[in-house]
Amino acid sequence: MSEASDVLRDAVERVDALVTVAGTPEGLREAWGKLVVALALGPSRERRVCPFCGKTGMREANRCGYCWRALPPAADGAAPGSPVEGAAR
Ligand SMILES: [Zn+2]
Repeated sequence: MSEASDVLRDAVERVDALVTVAGTPEGLREAWGKLVVALALGPSRERRVCPFCGKTGMREANRCGYCWRALPPAADGAAPGSPVEGAAR
């Protein structure tokens, strides 16, 4: 509920978007990842980590915004009756 946490989370999101673009030195990405872990903000409720590339994206997204792979429906707290995509080919 603290505003400081929201501000920090927002800042982390912005930097995260910047360090995940192509051309970012690997060392910087690694250091950033450690920093995020150290901050222990945890993923906000509406976010989740892509199982394929490890990037954080929107929880309700059907497709990863980084590697564009189709994501399984969000498992935690998802409505059981939500429509499952992928039936149509
Ligand atoms: Zn991905």
